[in-house]
Amino acid sequence: MKEKLVFSEAPRVGGTLVWYYLICKRQVWLMARGVEADKDDESLALGRLIDESSYKRIRHSVSFGDSKFDLLKEESGVLVIGEIKKSSRSIKAARLQLAHYLYELAKFGTEARGELLFPKEKKREDVVLTEDLKLKLDQIYKGILEVTTSSSPPKVYKCKYCGNCAYQELCWS
Ligand code: SF4
Repeated sequence: MKEKLVFSEAPRVGGTLVWYYLICKRQVWLMARGVEADKDDESLALGRLIDESSYKRIRHSVSFGDSKFDLLKEESGVLVIGEIKKSSRSIKAARLQLAHYLYELAKFGTEARGELLFPKEKKREDVVLTEDLKLKLDQIYKGILEVTTSSSPPKVYKCKYCGNCAYQELCWS
């Protein structure tokens, strides 16, 4: 049976951890341990460039608790949180990451809606926080706790995300 580590406080769950949990649990463990991803990794650099050059008239990179919203704006008195992605390839994970932001805001009594934005594909999707999404997120938070309190990382396994992952050198060399 895997050993569980005991920390003085629960792991801080930001939207990026939710995203990684749905992409690769090993990434969650590495991130939670503060293992730095390769900052020169091309996919990270491209992500930053798209973030910086899209939607210039809206507030960018707004921190809230352990999360950082790509975009924040107000429309007809409603707060809108935007999440920019390079592609819609992992749209399910992107939806849940954005729903996590909406859930965090709801816990503080702030209602907001979300917009997933794929500037390269000229695509957009609205995300509304539903009871179903809340239930899914509650399960994900439990899963993240499991992964992050384990003394060793989940085993490395080849998946479709390895090729673009900033940890690939660490996992596969
Ligand atoms: S390289 Fe692959 S196995 Fe390693 S963290 Fe990235 S996605 Fe996960």
